[in-house]
Amino acid sequence: MTLDLQFDSKHLWHPYTSMTNPLPCYGVVSANKCILELDSGVQLIDGMSSWWACLFGYNVAELNDAAKNQLDKMAHVMFGGLTHQPAISLAKKLVAITPKGLDKVFLSDSGSVSVEVALKMALQYWHALDQPKSQFLTIRNGYHGDTFGAMSVTDPEGSMHELYHDFLAKQLFAPQPSITFDQEWHPSALNAITQLVEENQQNIAAIILEPIVQGAGGMFFYHPEYLKGIRALCDKHHLLLIADEIATGFGRTGKLFACEFADISPDIICVGKAITGGYMSLAATLTTNKIANTISQGKAGVFMHGPTFMGNPLACAVACASIDKLLSIGWQDKVSTIEQQLSNYLAPCIDLPQVQDVRVLGAIGVVEMKENLDVAVVQKRLVELGVWIRPFGKLIYIMPPYIIEKQQLKKLCDAIYTVASL
Ligand code: PMP
Repeated sequence: MTLDLQFDSKHLWHPYTSMTNPLPCYGVVSANKCILELDSGVQLIDGMSSWWACLFGYNVAELNDAAKNQLDKMAHVMFGGLTHQPAISLAKKLVAITPKGLDKVFLSDSGSVSVEVALKMALQYWHALDQPKSQFLTIRNGYHGDTFGAMSVTDPEGSMHELYHDFLAKQLFAPQPSITFDQEWHPSALNAITQLVEENQQNIAAIILEPIVQGAGGMFFYHPEYLKGIRALCDKHHLLLIADEIATGFGRTGKLFACEFADISPDIICVGKAITGGYMSLAATLTTNKIANTISQGKAGVFMHGPTFMGNPLACAVACASIDKLLSIGWQDKVSTIEQQLSNYLAPCIDLPQVQDVRVLGAIGVVEMKENLDVAVVQKRLVELGVWIRPFGKLIYIMPPYIIEKQQLKKLCDAIYTVASL
């Protein structure tokens, strides 16, 4: 089966691309385990998990069954005034596995929306306390999504969000953490953000950050003590802490949630992407009883958000099946085996003159080049090498499904070595 790629390029907008000079697109006709099959018949090993989401690869029996079973009962029903078992079961599971104290669950459609919900929760919390605050503090090189609130706390440099500068709420940005995951910790790394907090405390509703791994902003891994320090800073100055675990959640970093590296609980957490094992769009924002109760007892009396597809039963049923599967497959051993293999197979890249850095955490492997890559050229070469890897900027990175086989991972890493030496 060949796809009408000409129609696609003329009419379909793809992520972050031009309508007049789009990057080439490859047609996929099916996907199974870690293999994507193109319309040309070519098979590619998937290194991306469809942007952090497909934990168990594609066409997963348990997730297919969950979707089919739910489909025969009901695909969707509004969540206003109605509820259902898939949402109740999912909320129970999320409360049980996320860091402790996060007991109230708000379901939404996508990661960006779950960030909007988190920001609104923080604003409504302070409003309910009659101490309205209007700013958020975040760290440079962060990424939180493409909607307006999320864009306002995403680093404008490099994200192209500076285009919308005049429309975006003005937030506070602390420097990117200076100490990486493996380096020796020094408390002075917290000086700059501490100073920003001290100078602006009265107006800061919350600090929002991606715990430990900054994803789209540069695939940067920072020290757990930094996160611990931020939690302490928030406690000291009565700020809320929002952890965006949309990319890091569900075991990707080697912990079920990256906050566990620092042994902290945020006041609000956002989860998405891998929540349905990569099957469909769903996200959740969880918060504490204290915040939920304060919002509910404030002047508004309600939390002001309610998407049409909130708590979609199909997505919730698949999410339940995905979480059950994750917890039953020995994910920790799988992720730590991948971590070991990624470290071994990517190590030779550091000797290439074009390569700036090689880093691995959990099931995430990153090769950072010294110069920006030509994505179309590198992508084409990677496809010729039989792998699906989507580089951006200076980064070639993979986050494979947890079920990837050793030889498949080796092939992905060898392909990275080949294109990094071009
Ligand atoms: N936060 C983080 C950390 C992300 O990586 C992303 C997605 N790249 C988002 C938020 C936005 O999620 P979505 O694309 O589902 O809106």
